[in-house]
Amino acid sequence: MSSVFEAIKAMSAVMQANQGKLSELDAAIGDGDHGVNMARGFKAACDKLAASDPDDVGAGIKLVGITLISTVGGASGPLYGTAFMRAGAALSDQSNITLEMAANMFKAAIQGIKDRGKSKAGEKTMLDALEPAYETFVQEANRGKNLLECLEAATFAAGQGVEYTKTIIATKGRASYLGTRSIGHQDAGATSSYLLLASFTEFMKQGVREA
Ligand code: ADP
Ligand code: MG
Repeated sequence: MSSVFEAIKAMSAVMQANQGKLSELDAAIGDGDHGVNMARGFKAACDKLAASDPDDVGAGIKLVGITLISTVGGASGPLYGTAFMRAGAALSDQSNITLEMAANMFKAAIQGIKDRGKSKAGEKTMLDALEPAYETFVQEANRGKNLLECLEAATFAAGQGVEYTKTIIATKGRASYLGTRSIGHQDAGATSSYLLLASFTEFMKQGVREA
């Protein structure tokens, strides 16, 4: 099993486990399908990788992106799908993923979401978890921290970003129809972003323990 497949399996398990919670959050200010969308998309990505598991890390990540775009009906499928496709494309040297390269992939993924969603941080979306996470990742990398330390700090920042979404008005996606009534509710997409990052970090930690 490739490392991409293993990582996606870990992320998918967390999406399956949190399906109810994510849909519940989406039901409050959207249409209640976010958990179903994420669970279906990541299950499909696992199935695709089980059928054809590329050795090339970039190709594996791109395959995840394509699968998310083609299997998830909601807005989040194309958004996360574009993020994975851009991250895969940003990977220039598959054999050795440096901290700098990981940061480049993270940045490309976020830019993909911004381009596809015509969105930016502060609009109560997944970007409110991902952008502060990326900024923290880079900050910690510049301080000489290793990949795991950077990921842990980034996950913490993403969690704070999720809390921040409770305080702001949604101006993108279905929740924006509610205007000020969206205040007080936690964004579902920011929550799934946090969970994906947290599960990836946990997966990497496990790898270090086993090595
Ligand atoms: P849908 O809104 O089509 O039902 P989902 O429920 O799966 O799709 O996903 C909703 C999540 O997608 C929101 O909680 C928000 O985080 C994110 N989202 C929606 N529109 C945008 C956008 N334009 N840019 C970034 N994220 C967005
Ligand atoms: Mg929805």
